[in-house]
Amino acid sequence: MFDKLVEYFLKFPGIGPRQAKRFAYFLSSADNEFVDELSKLIKEIKNNAVQCVSCRRYFENSKNDASNRCPICSSLNRNGALLMVVEKNLDLDNIEKTGIYNGKYFILGSALSLKNEKQNTLIFKELFNKAQKEKPAEVILATSATLEGENTARYIEKILEPLPVKVTRLGRGLSTGTELEYIDSETMDNALKNRK
Ligand SMILES: [Zn+2]
Repeated sequence: MFDKLVEYFLKFPGIGPRQAKRFAYFLSSADNEFVDELSKLIKEIKNNAVQCVSCRRYFENSKNDASNRCPICSSLNRNGALLMVVEKNLDLDNIEKTGIYNGKYFILGSALSLKNEKQNTLIFKELFNKAQKEKPAEVILATSATLEGENTARYIEKILEPLPVKVTRLGRGLSTGTELEYIDSETMDNALKNRK
């Protein structure tokens, strides 16, 4: 059972074998109340977390909104002329935290790789349809500064070519390589101003 649990923790993003084992040992020694509460939370998050039909973000649908659109997509105060493409939920959270950006989003979902080509094609098609339907004036590509992120950005540029939309990339300014996960409001401000 211990090994089985380690196997599950290994599936978590960014968790290696040593950490996975550490978690399993931690749970073995934790008190009952902790484990009960944790298992309850895991079930609840699965029941309440919904993927937004518009931006693909996972959010807690506490209001039980039947449209399954997240608060950002359904907000009238967001600028629909700007559509930012990010890789992960976490990227969106961090950009929101800076409070600099007021447009809308589209989440690709984990780093895209050729391994999952079929799924990637579906996601790109969804992005194309969204851009075609919502007609933003500008799509801002905020993929990471890795080789994979660059390839993804180039691919999206190609896909959106037939549409009358300006496609830009987030400028990275002085902090080349800064991942969106660690971005602060000053860097975000610069990255937005320097987009091209
Ligand atoms: Zn949304």
